[in-house]
Amino acid sequence: MARYKGSLCRLCRRESLKLFLKGDRCYSDKCAFERKGYAPGEHGQARERRKKYSDYGVQLREKQKLKRMFGLLEKQFRGYYVKADRQKGVTGTNLLVLLERRLDNIIFRMGFASSKGEARQLVRHNHFLVNGGKVNIPSYLIKSGDEVQVREKSRKMARILDSMETVARRGVPQWLELDKDNFKGIVKMFPTREELTMPIQEQLVVELYSK
Ligand code: SF4
Repeated sequence: MARYKGSLCRLCRRESLKLFLKGDRCYSDKCAFERKGYAPGEHGQARERRKKYSDYGVQLREKQKLKRMFGLLEKQFRGYYVKADRQKGVTGTNLLVLLERRLDNIIFRMGFASSKGEARQLVRHNHFLVNGGKVNIPSYLIKSGDEVQVREKSRKMARILDSMETVARRGVPQWLELDKDNFKGIVKMFPTREELTMPIQEQLVVELYSK
């Protein structure tokens, strides 16, 4: 699967928002957005001062933010929109919930990885079980009641242990239940819109795609 290979911090600076793509570094004073909170590039600061977006531009930026938050490329992201649009209920909320249900995101939220990118790599390398079975597909959609567990042989991995140490800083969302001692967690229910705290106006994404 193709993926973005450029600078992750550049994406935060482009979106004028901390997207938390680099784990611990994002919480430290090394965060590039904290040091240079303006658009990247030679004329980034000047562009920032002149910045004025059309309606389309505002919708596009919102879509880019959400897509980049989950480390997706356009085709994959649009696939989630199409699926969300076919579901009952509010399309924007459906979209956010679908993205949250990705296995790599759940692993990040439970604190077994320090970023979604790291979670994706750990999933691909077979470090997790879902309901007792091996799953190595980061986009696997978790269902309500599913149990996610670190495999026995992976429980001494420094990356996983370090992330579990620092998860308190981020906090585990209410809709997940973490059993740290047994290296597992349960998805109690899908999140409601109120429980999703990312600073995204998903309605703008829906408006962009429904043109
Ligand atoms: Fe974004 Fe994290 Fe880089 Fe800061 S350190 S700019 S939050 S990816």
